[in-house]
Amino acid sequence: PVQHTRLPANTPLYPSPSRRGTLRSPQPPRRRATAMAPLLSSTHNSAVALSRHSGPKQLSTRSLAPRRSRCHVVPRRAARMAVQAESQVQVDEAALAEELRLMRAENLKLRSKLAAIQARREGISEAEAVARVSDIAGLSEAEVLRKLEAGIVWPKPSEPTPFWDRSPRTMELAVGGGKYVPPPPQDQNPLHIVHLAAELAPFAKVGGLADVVTGLAKACGERGHYVEVILPYYTCIPDSVIENKKHECEFTVPKGYHWDGEMRLGNQITHVYSGRIAGVNVLLLQPDHSTSNFFVCDRIYGGGYNEVEAYLYFCRAALEFLNVTQRQPAVLHLHEWQASAAALLYWEIYHQSGLARPRVMLTIHSMANTGEVRQDEFLAAGVHGDMFATIEKALDERTIGHNPERLNMLKGAINYSNWVTTVSPSYAAEAIQGGAAGWLREHFNTDMVRNKFSGVLNGIDTEEWDPSMDGMLPATFSAEFPAGKALCKKYLQQGLGLKVDAAKPLVVCVSRLVPQKGIHLIKHSIFRTQKLGGQFVLLGSGHADGDFRHLAETEFKDHPDVAMRIMYSERLAHLVYAAADIVVVPSMFEPCGLTQLIAIRYGALPLVRRTGGLGDTVFDVDAGGEKGNGFVFDGADEGSMDSALERAVKYYVDKPEWWAEQSKKNMLADCGWQSSAAEYINIYRNI
Ligand code: ADP
Repeated sequence: PVQHTRLPANTPLYPSPSRRGTLRSPQPPRRRATAMAPLLSSTHNSAVALSRHSGPKQLSTRSLAPRRSRCHVVPRRAARMAVQAESQVQVDEAALAEELRLMRAENLKLRSKLAAIQARREGISEAEAVARVSDIAGLSEAEVLRKLEAGIVWPKPSEPTPFWDRSPRTMELAVGGGKYVPPPPQDQNPLHIVHLAAELAPFAKVGGLADVVTGLAKACGERGHYVEVILPYYTCIPDSVIENKKHECEFTVPKGYHWDGEMRLGNQITHVYSGRIAGVNVLLLQPDHSTSNFFVCDRIYGGGYNEVEAYLYFCRAALEFLNVTQRQPAVLHLHEWQASAAALLYWEIYHQSGLARPRVMLTIHSMANTGEVRQDEFLAAGVHGDMFATIEKALDERTIGHNPERLNMLKGAINYSNWVTTVSPSYAAEAIQGGAAGWLREHFNTDMVRNKFSGVLNGIDTEEWDPSMDGMLPATFSAEFPAGKALCKKYLQQGLGLKVDAAKPLVVCVSRLVPQKGIHLIKHSIFRTQKLGGQFVLLGSGHADGDFRHLAETEFKDHPDVAMRIMYSERLAHLVYAAADIVVVPSMFEPCGLTQLIAIRYGALPLVRRTGGLGDTVFDVDAGGEKGNGFVFDGADEGSMDSALERAVKYYVDKPEWWAEQSKKNMLADCGWQSSAAEYINIYRNI
């Protein structure tokens, strides 16, 4: 059972937090009504918001009347205007096409939900419910295949935009099928859960952290809880992806700033916007850009500001926002070092001053980055760090006796949270018994931490990753109708300029290219696969991608069996998983890993190094019995990986029927969030 862990309650306030009076506009009572509106399901409010913010502009009759001045436009200007108008039309066409694709995808999802409800109400079978959402009911297999093929817009070398950035079909065709997943149970006594995170999939995503926040938030929402995610308002998040965007309020946040070589305390005007991104309620925090460049960036973690200071400010601003809007969530769920300071600030400052209700949960997605900070630098959160500079609080013991001694945010949050999770049971065990936690290992082995620490396995967002409905694929597929997968493989081979050959095993890797991911083994597997007669596709980027860029531009440029795209692309990733036969994940350490789960869902067989969550989710077909779903090796050397790769290729070439069956079995596996979400809810309720 989860233990109650109370924190020292009577630590003095230092300094006192800003009071509600700091809310600049609009006034608090109104804010409260808005803040609680979704809990009270005020459809009226949201309808007003919709018409006010996203409704079409009314054209006045005057604006429709012809204007005389048009007759006087000089010819050169007229020509320029015509060109501008034409490019405007092109832009609008692309935007419309994207909107249409999203609407069709939404349509498919709604049909699926409707069928699920009807199945429950009418007591019909799972198979029948699934057939209702299918576009192929009543058609023979050959007819379906013809229909699927006819709708594909095959990639051409001459295309001006990359093929993955446009719609792959003239018309979506959902094949349906897949495992029927009944709607999750509705939990009694729903909770108000607020996440603080630096990433959110798919529009503020760098890696798995983003997927987890979105997936968990959605899964808890589906169980009836009210979930909000507080996220920095990165300037690279496009406006178009935020539904019902609304300026919530403006307030000031205590924040340190640099002056004459030292940190001084001041206030930062901060704006909060609410809305929905990918089905998740978001609260986007934006420091006023006239005085701060925090979160001004063209990619996440790619701005020209000090990240430690930016996320310290983010934590303080999030708590200040909860306080001034009088929100009282049951749980503050913090993710990674970027949100860690909120645990410290909450218990030392806010808990005593109005924001009294929340309990605090920390999830560690990777122990590789723990967030080190100088004590004076901590002033970016509006308080000097010396208030946390003890062993019991956040002092980094490695720096004792150094000048200056430093704080560690993850350690601080571990101490100050009511419960701590990491993303798989094996990674949790590796933190306590192995080397996963590094210098924090001793800390994890104290009774205080051991008694409030557990591993909860990640899931994937099965709506986002659903091969039977995926609008980014040239052909959808499922365990009942797997033929579309072969079309996806052909599409990717053609698009990337590989030899179109169904018989060659297609080995892929979608990864950040950093040492954690086993880059020496990724590189080795490219050469080895080619030698074994297979094809390799790499989609990856990261600070260690230089070697790969070089290979992509030299040895493997226009290669018939190897394609390397050193970049980040969510859309290309969908195509790569759908086309893949084998997905390699040779990580040196892996807290959970999502790519192997996506591989399984898309009917590929993962090939992984047994570490952390990879060992919890992938079971070797030669040893895992019924659970077998891929290939597993242990060593960190090339030989260990070779033997697994050779076995995989041999299975693919020698046993096509077995492979097809295993692929279907994988597509039916449960990789979703529901069981893990139930585990999280259980923890939320008990802390
Ligand atoms: P990590 O969080 O350590 O990067 P995970 O396996 O937990 O690793 O999550 C990785 C996520 O990021 C997956 O959704 C994967 O598809 C995605 N991803 C990684 N690299 C790329 C890339 N270059 N392009 C698109 N998606 C990527």
